[in-house]
Order: sequence, then structure tokens, then C-alpha cells
Amino acid sequence: MNNKIYLDNAATTEMLPEVSYAMEPYFIKKYGNASTTYELGAEARNAIELAREQVAASIMAKPCEIFFTSGGSESDNWAIKNTAGERKHEGRHIITSKIEHHAVLHSCRYLEELDYKATYLDVNRDGIVDVNELEKIVRASEYSREPKDRITLISIMYANNEIGTLQPVEEIGKLARRKGIIFHTDAVQAVGQLPISVRHLPIDMLSASAHKFHGPKGMGFLYVREGVELPSFIHGGAQEKGKRAGTENVAGIVGMAKALSIATKEMGRKSRELTSLRNYFAKRVLAEIPDTVLNGHREKRLPGNLNFSFKDVQGTALLVLLEEGGILASAGSACSSGITSISHVIDAIGVPKEYAYGTIRFSMSRDTARKDVDKTISVLKNSVEILRKGIA
Ligand SMILES: *Cc1c(COP(=O)(O)O)cnc(C)c1O
Repeated sequence: MNNKIYLDNAATTEMLPEVSYAMEPYFIKKYGNASTTYELGAEARNAIELAREQVAASIMAKPCEIFFTSGGSESDNWAIKNTAGERKHEGRHIITSKIEHHAVLHSCRYLEELDYKATYLDVNRDGIVDVNELEKIVRASEYSREPKDRITLISIMYANNEIGTLQPVEEIGKLARRKGIIFHTDAVQAVGQLPISVRHLPIDMLSASAHKFHGPKGMGFLYVREGVELPSFIHGGAQEKGKRAGTENVAGIVGMAKALSIATKEMGRKSRELTSLRNYFAKRVLAEIPDTVLNGHREKRLPGNLNFSFKDVQGTALLVLLEEGGILASAGSACSSGITSISHVIDAIGVPKEYAYGTIRFSMSRDTARKDVDKTISVLKNSVEILRKGIA
């Protein structure tokens, strides 16, 4: 990529050439509709079902538990809105956290408009939800006579997209299961990065997105545990067991399965390498740039994620200088119509104001090398110094 160093892999990743090659035949030569009975259709159908097996195997699910979607946002919307609707006679209360992706937060807010209740759990300074607090809320709801208070769904992300923090999904899932509550997790940042086994974890539904693991954009899946009732999201034909109608994106499905198979095969080695590179990166930045904090938990975080706040620096200005130095990253604050606002995640973990505006996320990939990190640190040091001197 024209000698820029791309450290924004939490936003999206570069598609692998192998993925592109696997997809290519399905654009022109193998263009059949999987719902037709002749050979051309069967070819597409077989490719879809093979992909479903590969995707299922990567999280130790059964193929019948995998539903293809257009990405993470769709999977989150489906899981949350339709579970809430399906169970509205048992209760109308959803629990989530303050640091979820907007696909989850805005789905919950939409449900609030439809007279559901949503509780947004606080997180600690590291960005981790408190399972004891969750348990208290669950217990209080059990004694309420108000149907609106009864909890039917808990949706807590596996790994945060800004600060990389991993949540105690196993404990949350166990609690949910004990109480007969459905547990959904947005695992978009974790799938392809960390080993996940839904056979061993008490997860009922899980969202994933292909473009976050070097697959195609506009492609994702929702895992739905066998026996969990989830109504149709798109009504129409019989595709995806009638739950998500519409002619399948065969190339996208094949590409996602290819990308996930590669990620899964290389996960052990890649995640060890990335973790050690991440620790080296963090250690140097904290030692060499004064008045810097690392956001998120030191160890319980994604292998490729680092999120720093630099005191008395504008994150958006820092991004510009980084880009001039050939580094692409992301700010934890957004500037729209001249007003800079801090992200909801940085706000929720309580980063002090004088640091919060100077927040930058670096998200590495399987291809990030030590020399990329060294170059980044040197550009970063210079840029922070320039901005602090006010001569930018
Ligand atoms: C990227 C992301 C999404 C949205 O996925 P899309 O496929 O882009 O719709 C949802 N949740 C998290 C945590 C993400 O990082």
C-alpha cells in the first residue's frame, strides 16, 4: 500500500489475495443462483454449504447454527431487535454496556423508543464490565412485577473496537444461562484474532464481520445456538432457512470462509507474535513520550490493539501529522463542524479531559512488522512534541 504504514485494522483490513482468488470464479463463471436446480445453481449451493461448514468449524459451531449476513451491524441488529421482539411477552428489558459499538447501542435506543427498557452497564477504568453489578440488576428485575423490568437479553461485546479490552464473556454467559436470559456477544473484533469455541462458552448468539479479518466488506455472519428462537430478519424466499431471505452473496460467503480458515489456521502463531510486538510498542511509547497513558487493560486486550492518550494534544491534529509521516491510525475523538467530541468509550472509562482529546488508536494486523512499529514510534514522538510546543 504505497509505503504507508496502515495501523487502522480495527476499522477495516486489507483483503488477502487468496481470498480474492477464491471469490473470483463466483463473479463471472459460476454465477448461478443457489436456489435453482441445474448444475450452475448446485455449484453455488455447494460452495455456500462448504463455506458454512468452514465458518462453523472456526468457532466450533454446527453448520446449521451459522446464518450469513451483510456484516457486523446487520448481525447485531438482527440479534438484538428480533430477540427482544420474540420474547416481549416475557419481559421488555435489555442489558448492554456503555462501550458497545453503535450497531448495538443504537439498536437498544431504537427499542427504547418502542417502549422497551435498556440498561447500559458502566465499565471500570480498564473498560471491563462488573459481573457483580450485572448480577444485582438481574436479581432486582426478578422481583419486579413490572413486565418492563424482566430481562430477556444481555448483549455484551467480546472485545472492544477502540480500546481492545476483552470482557468476561464466560461469566456473563453463565449468569445469563442460569437465569434463562439470552446472551448475545458482538465478537466482530475477536473472531479471526482469538480462539473462540461456542461449544465451550455459554454464548447464545455471536456477531462477526468478514472485513475485520481480511475478508470482503459487506459480509458477516450471526451464530445462533441450536434451540434458540430467533425470528426472521428479512422476509422473502427460503434462503438461510427463510430467516434471512434474498439471493445469497456467493462470492462474499466463499471469501469470508476462506479468510476465516486462513486466520484460524495461523491464529496461534500470529497472535503470539502480535502480542509481543504490541507489548514492545506500548513499552516504548510509555517510556519515551512523557504524559502518556495506555487505555484499556494491559493484558486482557486484543493482540493488535493499542490506544493511547497524550496529554495536551489534539487527537485529530495528531492524526494529520501521523498521516504526513506515512502512518494511518484513528482518533478516539471526532471533529464534526468544528466541535471536537470525545468517543463514548473514552468517556465511559473516565480518561481525564486533558488527556481524552489526545486519544489515538493503533490497530496492527498479521502483516505489521517491527520496523513499522519503530517508524511509527519515531513519527509519533516528533508529532506529539510539535503539537505540545504549539508550532504545528
Ligand atoms: C466493525 C464493527 C462492527 C460493524 O461491522 P460491519 O461489518 O462494518 O457492519 C460492529 N461491532 C464492532 C465491535 C466492530 O468493530
